Amino acid sequence: MDKKEALKRRGLAFLRSKEALVSNARKTMQAAGAKRLIAVIKANAYGHGDTWAARTLYKELQVKDFAVATVEEGLRVRKAMSEEDVAILLLGVQPYELAGEMAEQGLATIAGSFDWLVKAKGILVEEGTKRPLAIHLAVDTGMGRVGAKTEAELSSMLDFVRQDEHFDLAGVMTHFATADEKKQAYYDQQLADFMHMVTDLAIPRKYWHLANSGSALFHSDQIPTDTIRVGAALYGFNPAFGAYESPVELEAVGQLVGRVWAVHPLLKGESLSYGATYTAKQDQWVGTVPIGYADGWKRSLSGMTVLVNGTKQRVLGRVTMDQIVISLPGPVPVNTEVTFIGQDADEKISIEEVADFAKTIPHEILTGISDRVPRVNID
Ligand SMILES: *Cc1c(COP(=O)(O)O)cnc(C)c1O
Repeated sequence: MDKKEALKRRGLAFLRSKEALVSNARKTMQAAGAKRLIAVIKANAYGHGDTWAARTLYKELQVKDFAVATVEEGLRVRKAMSEEDVAILLLGVQPYELAGEMAEQGLATIAGSFDWLVKAKGILVEEGTKRPLAIHLAVDTGMGRVGAKTEAELSSMLDFVRQDEHFDLAGVMTHFATADEKKQAYYDQQLADFMHMVTDLAIPRKYWHLANSGSALFHSDQIPTDTIRVGAALYGFNPAFGAYESPVELEAVGQLVGRVWAVHPLLKGESLSYGATYTAKQDQWVGTVPIGYADGWKRSLSGMTVLVNGTKQRVLGRVTMDQIVISLPGPVPVNTEVTFIGQDADEKISIEEVADFAKTIPHEILTGISDRVPRVNID
């Protein structure tokens, strides 16, 4: 669907720019001195569209490695990216019962414990799987979600994978908890623990990957490999909003726009929306826009700024499930465009500002933009 059609039919569009995605990927790799990018496209590429992001990065930058969170996400990306040279990694803890399916479908997975590997092997043997399951050994250095905590456990996992034809060693990884916060000591400790284990066990450097967006952007001198494993930065937002400035200029990939579908006056003393929490102090023009919390425009964005004809306006009263009412600069025509995230003439609202207003992070706003909002390519 193009922008015009999306706005006509739905009154809403999440616009996404290929050019911005590619430029962010390039700049982030440069900042980190990286040669290989594992592009994190979980949660529908942070709301932007996983297969769109994968296709674009493969075609424009020859990115061959993609990471998602779940088997279902992996299967969808694999369907769109069936090329032999494309690797798809599942980052979350996976059910060992699906080991055979992951192997057959060419999905690599992290393995977080010796026990998981033993159970997964049981399934691979039982199902007589023809292809080996590609394994990235996870090391838990402080995130606390998954992974070997001791060198002894990592060592037994490593031996088990190397000695068994049902598995292929594809990587060894850890994940930082504070790369985008001012908690350098915790970061340093995680890095040191990882380095200690992988060097002790002589796991070759080509297998290591640990740098997320925060590492790539804010700790670029502390990345011990050529590989980065990045999501946020690709989509052009600063994961450390408020704590660190980005060393490179990232460009927002997505913009959220809509249309005013009804325009009417609100007279002094009249109230609107659930709870009647907003009352006009004087006569004013207001407009109804078909976006609500079911589209991902959270209830906590009641009162947030939006842009109309290059002017700052405001969400009046409570956000409802499907609609909001906004202030207007005057009796604008029906179908006038509204910008929720993006630029309108000289005014701009960034995803960081929206997230900040909602007391959350950009990741949560973007992944919350629901399927009801058409994704539209603008280049
Ligand atoms: C989500 C995730 C990433 C990407 O993190 P960003 O901060 O978005 O770059 C990398 N690695 C793992 C294990 C993740 O879960």
